[in-house]
Amino acid sequence: MLYRIPFNRPGLVGSELRYVADAITQGHAAGDGAYTGRCHAMLEKTLGAARVLLTTSCTHALEMAALLLDIQPGDEVIVPSFTFVSTANAFVLRGAKPVFIDIRPDTLNLDESRLEELITLRTKAIVPVHYAGVACEMDDILQVARRHGVAVVEDNAHGLFARYKGRYLGTFGAIAAQSFHETKNVTCGEGGAIILNDPELVERAEILREKGTNRSKFYRGQVDKYTWVDIGSSYLMSDILAAFLCAQIERYEQIAATRRRIWENYAAELSGWAAAQDVQLPCVPPHCEQAYHMFYLVMPSLQARQGLIEHLRSKGILSVFHYVPLHLSPMGAAFGGRPGQCPTTERVGECLLRLPFYNDLSSAEQADVVDAVRQFECRDAVAR
Ligand SMILES: *Cc1c(COP(=O)(O)O)cnc(C)c1O
Repeated sequence: MLYRIPFNRPGLVGSELRYVADAITQGHAAGDGAYTGRCHAMLEKTLGAARVLLTTSCTHALEMAALLLDIQPGDEVIVPSFTFVSTANAFVLRGAKPVFIDIRPDTLNLDESRLEELITLRTKAIVPVHYAGVACEMDDILQVARRHGVAVVEDNAHGLFARYKGRYLGTFGAIAAQSFHETKNVTCGEGGAIILNDPELVERAEILREKGTNRSKFYRGQVDKYTWVDIGSSYLMSDILAAFLCAQIERYEQIAATRRRIWENYAAELSGWAAAQDVQLPCVPPHCEQAYHMFYLVMPSLQARQGLIEHLRSKGILSVFHYVPLHLSPMGAAFGGRPGQCPTTERVGECLLRLPFYNDLSSAEQADVVDAVRQFECRDAVAR
């Protein structure tokens, strides 16, 4: 079935193709060309990070984080169960055991009050995911991490340019990972970045990203030849993609304003319906400036969630559920995950749906979505 209104449609700001053509004709299409440099500079300046390095994906940025932290077999890493696979897999690849933490029912971020009970002598890192671009409770998380000498790696795939108590997400942990996948606010199709807030990690990060060589130092003229100095892989984004990304980052304020308008319109138009139908809308605590990454509904039951997806589908509108709890997946079960372990994650995994949300969503399209949602009565949804 073809959807009249898709869930996501990557939007262009206008200068992408010109920049891409320029990157190709400049003759440096591989990684760390001029456009990569421009992206690094913009992100470092805005965020105030020690170093930002573009990567092929957020997944690869997380894999680099696991390498930088020297994660070893048997180490434990605390991750929310309600997240994308890569948050856990990047560490599992190094032999770590993911320890799943439940989420708060309001923001759907990891429940910081449960951290202390999950920490053991083997815990090496906590990986907060800022779900929907709304900050985790970073003060509490950093306090627990400091007390136990555990690293914090932020999975900030949703939260570029969002803030917690005035400070940008991605600048709290020693390391953070960003995504520029086509489903994210700022995109180049596939891409990511690693944010390094600890200057001591920068030199090794450059080496890991460059196949274990000191090529970055060579390019800067700091060594006269480059050679193999450490383990590593190829985590550089092509400068062609960096050119596309550069165009988007330059216009992030425009993208943010558009997404804010769409998000606030959903919230205003659906609040009455949601209250009457016992549906939970996104919660943004007053000390958080969110990224306007998505608009979700937490329905009162699985039946109501499936019923609304089907109702919207019948009108040509695509809405989608989100994470299947990691602790209930076959891999999660292999690490000891069992039903009942993370009750809020299990409920939200069954009851959450996301409405169409993209930069080019027109007012007329959004009004259609709102009308269709408002027609839906949860009590009409029956188990099938
Ligand atoms: C999208 C996403 C990722 C993975 O991003 P890629 O760039 O596709 O590797 C990781 N974590 C979260 C929370 C995500 O939403």
